Amino acid sequence: MATHHTKMLIIGSGPAGYSAAIYAARAMMEPIVVQGLQPGGQLTITTEVENYPGFRDVIQGPWLMEEMKAQAEHVGTRMMWDTIVSVDLENGPPFRAIGDSGDEYIGETLVIATGAQAKWLGAPGEQELGGKGVSACATCDGFFYRGKKVAVIGGGNTAVEEALYLTNHSDDVTLIHRRDELRAEKILQNRLFKSEKTNVLWNKTVKSFEAGEDGTLDHLVLEDTVTGETSTLEVDGAFVAIGHAPATELFKGKLAMDDAGYLDVEPGTPKTAIPGVFAAGDVADHTYRQAVTAAGMGCMAALDGEKFLAAREDTMEEAPQETAEAAE
Ligand SMILES: Cc1cc2nc3c(=O)[nH]c(=O)nc-3n(C[C@H](O)[C@H](O)[C@H](O)COP(=O)(O)OP(=O)(O)OC[C@H]3O[C@@H](n4cnc5c(N)ncnc54)[C@H](O)[C@@H]3O)c2cc1C
Repeated sequence: MATHHTKMLIIGSGPAGYSAAIYAARAMMEPIVVQGLQPGGQLTITTEVENYPGFRDVIQGPWLMEEMKAQAEHVGTRMMWDTIVSVDLENGPPFRAIGDSGDEYIGETLVIATGAQAKWLGAPGEQELGGKGVSACATCDGFFYRGKKVAVIGGGNTAVEEALYLTNHSDDVTLIHRRDELRAEKILQNRLFKSEKTNVLWNKTVKSFEAGEDGTLDHLVLEDTVTGETSTLEVDGAFVAIGHAPATELFKGKLAMDDAGYLDVEPGTPKTAIPGVFAAGDVADHTYRQAVTAAGMGCMAALDGEKFLAAREDTMEEAPQETAEAAE
């Protein structure tokens, strides 16, 4: 068991964590990234990424994250194969975190970039067909279904927003909901019902996602929640939109969060209520949830961390002088 000291401790190795690391390393903060159980984050479970700036052609998610990691290491980041299991934010700075390995991490500043995971239905075929017709992000993957038939599963704001977004690409969007009314805001519902490109299948759950001969999604098997009858729906793409779970269990009772568990930050900044503790990426963003926005927030967190340390050093330098003046 070892103790690791750094000016910036970063928990999480998605776009937010790696971007924070790149900026912090270039500011000579010798950051440490604790990578967690999913090194590279959510993009490592997708295939094609077409909306991350800087690449003319479609790139692969895992490749993009390898490149980000290599860049962060190249400028001086220390990567740790560990998962944080507890944090002490009360007595900082410095802030202490304990890894699953038993190692202790001590950071003068802390960036929380633990991300969020899409919630899945758990139906057969859903995971196997991920990236082959099944997705949890219309903004990310909708473009691949131009002119095709798609379905969205869910009934809240996210589901209706995803369905409306998909009408930019498809004239045949079916929203599948297990009840006979939606939870989404009325204004979104009105837009959905007004669109000629959408229709709603009420009282239906997805029993399974079925592949065709080419190994991609072919149809959904549905079950009526009232009658129990089963039916099928042929679709090229299915978007599961039943919400996201931010990885904030560690911070319960330590940092403010909203009802869904997203960390509260000062609007327009990655600052939490504890000076020196920042939150970046999906863990604090229930609205955009994109790699580029996560990376942007990671950059902001590192820059704010640097300013925080500089201000603290100024205060420490001034303090002895003030004491001396007071003594005169
Ligand atoms: C299938 C899929 C396809 C997508 N496609 C696109 C796309 O095409 N374009 C796009 O812009 N966005 C896409 N997204 C969204 C994008 O992946 C996310 O917005 C982005 O990854 C968020 O980055 P993040 O750094 O905030 O967190 P994440 O990528 O979620 O990374 C979180 C990190 O935190 C770590 N972690 C969690 N808990 C701990 C802990 N206790 N200790 C240490 N580490 C911890 C994890 O191991 C992980 O490394 C897609 C998402 C999915 C699921």
